[in-house]
Amino acid sequence: MDSLLGKTTEELERLVQEMDHPAYRGRQIAAWIYRRGAETFEAMTDLPRELRMRLAERYVVGTLPVVRRHVAQDGTIKYLLALSDGQMIESVYLPYPDRVSVCLSTQVGCPAGCRFCATAQGGFARNLTAGEIVGQLLRMQSESARRISHAVYMGMGEPLWNYDNVVRSLRLLGREMGLSLRNLTVSTVGVVPGIRALARENLPITLALSLHAPDDVLRAELIPTARKWRLEEILDACAEYARVTGRNLTFEYLLIGGVNDSPEQARRLAHLLESKHLPGNVNLIPFNFVDTPQGYRCPSRASIARFREELERAGRVTTQRMTRGHAIAAACGQLRRIVTGGADARPEGAIPLPLSC
Ligand code: SAH
Repeated sequence: MDSLLGKTTEELERLVQEMDHPAYRGRQIAAWIYRRGAETFEAMTDLPRELRMRLAERYVVGTLPVVRRHVAQDGTIKYLLALSDGQMIESVYLPYPDRVSVCLSTQVGCPAGCRFCATAQGGFARNLTAGEIVGQLLRMQSESARRISHAVYMGMGEPLWNYDNVVRSLRLLGREMGLSLRNLTVSTVGVVPGIRALARENLPITLALSLHAPDDVLRAELIPTARKWRLEEILDACAEYARVTGRNLTFEYLLIGGVNDSPEQARRLAHLLESKHLPGNVNLIPFNFVDTPQGYRCPSRASIARFREELERAGRVTTQRMTRGHAIAAACGQLRRIVTGGADARPEGAIPLPLSC
C-alpha cells in the first residue's frame, strides 16, 4: 500500500479533494504526520470518521518500526529501522548539550564501495524514498523528549546518487517539519553532476565533501568508484557550488594510520584546496575500526595532532570529529552488518568494541 509519509501538504490537499473532502483536511493530515507524529489514521481524531476509514483502505502512514536500539553511555542511540519490503537501515540519534542532531541514511547499502566503510562491504540494494528518509527523523523524534534541530546525511548510502529523493526530503524537513535548512548537511563522495545540480536548488544547506586523500591515486585506492571523476573536476564543482550558493563547503578527511595521515599529505591537502580557492573547514575523522582485507588501522593520537597542526599552519580551520557511540558500532553500516550477519557478525547482543582506537 502507498504511504502518505513523503507527500507534501499540497499533494495531501489534492489527495483529499479527489476523495471529495475540502483541501484543509490535507493540511490537517500533514500536521498529524509531520508535526504530531501520528502513526495511524485512527489517531487523527479531528478528521471525519468516514475519511479516516477510506484513507486506511488505500494508504498507510508509513512510519518506520524499530528493529533494534543501542544506547551508548554518551547518550548516542543507534537505531536499526525496518522498511516495508523487509530491508533494514541505520539511523543515529546524537544529543549534544545545546542541540540534538540525527544521522540519516539515503540508500539501503551503498554503491560507492569505499574500502574502509562497513556499509560498502554489504553491497547495494536500493534507493530510499523521500518518505523513508524523513521517516527516520520522525521515528527518532517520536522517541525523544528533546526537539531534533539538526540532521546530517551521513548514514548508509551516497545521497547524490539518490538525488531526487534526497532533495525532496530536504524540502520536507524544511517546509513540513520546520527544521532550518541551515542545520542540514549533505555529505557526498563527490558526484560531480549532483554537486552542480544541488547548487541550483536554492537550498541553503551545508555540503560536505568526503575527500580523504590529497591525490587521485590514493583516493582511487580508498574509494574505487571515485575514479569516475578526478579531484580536479570534483573541486571545480565544489568551487561552483560555493560561488552559486555563497556557502562554504566542509571537507571531510578520514585519517587511516599509515595510509593518508602523514604531515606531507596534510601539506598537499592544504595546497590542493588553496589552489582551487576553496575556503571551508577541514573536518578530520579518525578511522572508526572496521575489519578490512587491507588491514586498515586507526591513526595514532600523535599523527592526528601533527596532521592538524600542518593544516592549521597552512591557514586551514580544522576540526576533529568527536567519536561518539563507538561501543554501539555507530560507524556507518556497522550495526546492520552485525544483525544481518556480515563477515564480522557477532552473536546476538554482543557489540564489538573498537579494536585499536
Ligand atoms: N556517501 C557519503 C555519505 C555517507 S558516509 C559520503 O561518502 O560522504 C559519511 C562519512 O562517514 C563519510 O565521510 C565516510 O567516508 C565516513 N566513514 C565511512 N566509514 C567510516 C569509518 N569506518 N570510520 C570513519 N568514518 C567513516
